[in-house]
Amino acid sequence: MAEKRWIGETLFDDLGLRMNYRVEKVLHETQTGHQHVVLFEQPFFGKMLMLDGAIQITKRDEFIYQEMMSHVPLFAHGNAREVLIIGGGDCGIAEEVLKHQSVKRLTQVEIDPDVVAFAKEHFPEFTKPAFADKRFASVIDDGMKFVAQIERRFDVIIVDSTDPQGPGNVLFSQKFYAACKRRMNKSGVLVTQNGVPFFQSRELTSSITKFRRLFADAACYVAAIPTYVGGHMAMGWATDNRRLRQTAVKTLAARYRKAGSFSTKYWTPEVHAAAFALPRFIADVAAKAKRQ
Ligand code: SAM
Repeated sequence: MAEKRWIGETLFDDLGLRMNYRVEKVLHETQTGHQHVVLFEQPFFGKMLMLDGAIQITKRDEFIYQEMMSHVPLFAHGNAREVLIIGGGDCGIAEEVLKHQSVKRLTQVEIDPDVVAFAKEHFPEFTKPAFADKRFASVIDDGMKFVAQIERRFDVIIVDSTDPQGPGNVLFSQKFYAACKRRMNKSGVLVTQNGVPFFQSRELTSSITKFRRLFADAACYVAAIPTYVGGHMAMGWATDNRRLRQTAVKTLAARYRKAGSFSTKYWTPEVHAAAFALPRFIADVAAKAKRQ
């Protein structure tokens, strides 16, 4: 019997680290106009998507990241109507955002049409509810170009991007964050995928430093996602409304009830509030950014 293939995540090769996954079956593998894509079935995590050697999403642990990237900014804001997702072509975050009936329009801007196409084939649990929802608009474009050109303003911008390599690099730039700021309504919130500080502290320091030049409140919150290897995953947080990050658990619980207490597997009002209580080494990374 042929030796089972193993696929390694090469994201941390420069650290001499490589997480390998035994492959049951490769479902899709191609080089698109933007990146190398491999989607495979893994015995424990189920379907796994890897772009340019970095794990993006797995069937088994996707709920943690998707819920924390969507429900934290939406429940903190409390009345978001216009929401923008940059990246996120798998539609996992879109599906979570659309659980909020307060949202009147959700626009998702993904650069790679292939990612959306095979997400429709392999992640229908996300794409079906999203594309069936008349509030949802899927745009194929570079997120930088889109935020630089669009006239509309948004209450919440969620940057569900790849890492700062290839097409995702510009989404960690000062000009991108500045363009996002210009497209935000008063009390608007920007949240960003910001890597795992234990291995990628420079990425977090760099983003928070750039946020600080633009927003009154620049910070991050954390969650642990098994396949984002390295412990806590950091999610960047930027807004001019300093109170949003302090939203009381009681208020979050009331907003959750008002939103119909839809099912979640990770997010709770308590987990939301606790996610901003940073372990000291991550707080130091954020503080370092503030001194720069
Ligand atoms: N959760 C994942 C993570 O943390 O690594 C990200 C998932 S999502 C699949 C990332 C998406 O960002 C990819 O589909 C990629 O094509 C898209 N993307 C990368 N650069 C982009 C850009 N400049 N504009 C819009 N989308 C972009």
